[in-house]
Amino acid sequence: MYYYGIDIGGTTIKCGLFEENGHLIKVNEIPTRKEECGKYILPDIADYIEKNNLEFGLKKEDIAAVGLGVPGSVTDDGVVNKCINLGWGVVNVSKEFTKLTGIPSKVGNDANMAALGEYYKGSGKNYKSMVFVTIGTGVGGGIIIDGKPLNGVNGAACEIGHLPIVKEDVGQCNCGKRGCLEQVASATGIVRKARKLIARKDLTAKDVFDLAKAGDKQCIEAINYSLSYLAKGLACISCAIDPEVYVIGGGVSKAGDYLIDIVSDYYKKDAFHPSRDTKIVLASLGNDAGMYGAAFLAGCMTLN
Ligand SMILES: [Zn+2]
Repeated sequence: MYYYGIDIGGTTIKCGLFEENGHLIKVNEIPTRKEECGKYILPDIADYIEKNNLEFGLKKEDIAAVGLGVPGSVTDDGVVNKCINLGWGVVNVSKEFTKLTGIPSKVGNDANMAALGEYYKGSGKNYKSMVFVTIGTGVGGGIIIDGKPLNGVNGAACEIGHLPIVKEDVGQCNCGKRGCLEQVASATGIVRKARKLIARKDLTAKDVFDLAKAGDKQCIEAINYSLSYLAKGLACISCAIDPEVYVIGGGVSKAGDYLIDIVSDYYKKDAFHPSRDTKIVLASLGNDAGMYGAAFLAGCMTLN
């Protein structure tokens, strides 16, 4: 049997065809057509799967299930409650997709899918419990305990970007609150802090990290400020979840061991003593994590 793992993003949809042992056979990207409230998105994926099956000589009966990761909250029965990035309102994605393709499907939140991917195939592989943190334009994540993602009753578990822990006034967060972690620890937050310290307007988060690595004092200060808050966020999570490992992914994690070393140092200072030595490591699947996780959600790799 075969599986598809589909990661639906705001600009592209990543589609992977998997063998049941988790081996990725083929990956392709198709554009996300958001026009008319995103009504072409699921039919486009269904068309892609049909064409790809033909190419590999597969019939729809050969596909055990399709897993779909979407950028929004998803209930356990596959209902998506507003994906602003895709233009969707309340949609039963699982039901609609299976109606289109005749193939069973499962749906999950994209950050949870990336977490599942890292847990089964990436840096979380040898651990029982893991918290995945993704740092990009925002800060998000996923909690996996004994192999299962923790959704929360409102689908809001591990929205660590909105931990209300920033003391300084950093304005209003996208969520409407003030003092959220992602306002200082996201790529956007890092750049905002650096701009306050140095008179340069054309900075990216990568620039700030590169300058800091080269010894620039202000950039080091900006990085330390942002990452000390990230570490505080992790210390808060440890007090509630006490996971075995934190896996850090997303665009900002490209700063590599430099970032991990700083976060780990601050974390040790903030964490409650029994959790002080919790490992903090880099993610390893990059942009493929969501696709792997979606395939896993559909039932792929469960034989391993
Ligand atoms: Zn917020």
